[in-house]
Amino acid sequence: MCKRQSMKIICIGRNYRAHAAELNNPIPKYPLVFMKPASALLVNNKPLYYPAFTKELHYEAEIVLKICKNGRHIDPNFASTYYDHIAFGIDFTARDVQQSLKQKGHPWELSKAFDFSAGLSPFVGIANLDSSNIHFELKKNDVVVQKGNTADLIFDFNYLIGFISQYFMLQVGDLIYTGTPAGVGPVQIGDTLDGFIEGEHLISCEIK
Ligand code: ZN
Repeated sequence: MCKRQSMKIICIGRNYRAHAAELNNPIPKYPLVFMKPASALLVNNKPLYYPAFTKELHYEAEIVLKICKNGRHIDPNFASTYYDHIAFGIDFTARDVQQSLKQKGHPWELSKAFDFSAGLSPFVGIANLDSSNIHFELKKNDVVVQKGNTADLIFDFNYLIGFISQYFMLQVGDLIYTGTPAGVGPVQIGDTLDGFIEGEHLISCEIK
C-alpha cells in the first residue's frame, strides 16, 4: 500500500532586511513565497551531495515552523495556535542558477526545489520559547557564518501564516521555512554545516 505524501514545504524569501540587502534585492511589500516538494527533504543529518548543475551552492539558515492544525484564511491573531514545533532548516540554493532564472523572470524551482535542498533538523517544542525572540546560528566548519533572531523578521510567524493561508490551505505536517538572515554563502565539498537554536545543536550536514 502506498501512502500519499501530501506535505507542503512553503518557503519565504527576503524576510530579513540585511539579507535582502546583501543580495541587492528590495525590501518586499508582502511575503515572497515559493515551495519545495516533499522530495526535497534532507533529514537525519544525511550528507548533501553537491549537485552537478551548479557551481555556486549556498546555505541559508532558517527557522522552520511545523503546522499542527488545518486552516484557511487564518486570522494572524490566532495563527500562533497553528504551529507548536520548530526546527532548524537549511534552504540549499543553487545561487548561480537562481540569478540566471531571476534575470529571465523565470520561476525559481530549478535553483531552490531540487532533491535534498531542504535540510531539516528534528523538531523542538515552542512551549518554552518566545517566538518573537528566537536566536539561531549556523556554523560552517566550526566558524559562525550566520546569526539570526526572529525579532528581526520583516514578516513574523503569525503574519506569514495569515498571509500564506489566504492562498494555500495549511495542513497538519506542512512546513514553513521562514527566511534567512544575512551571511549566506557558498559551500564546497568537504564542508560541514552545523545549526543551533538557542544554543542547542540540532543539525549537522556534510557536503559530499
Ligand atoms: Zn531561504
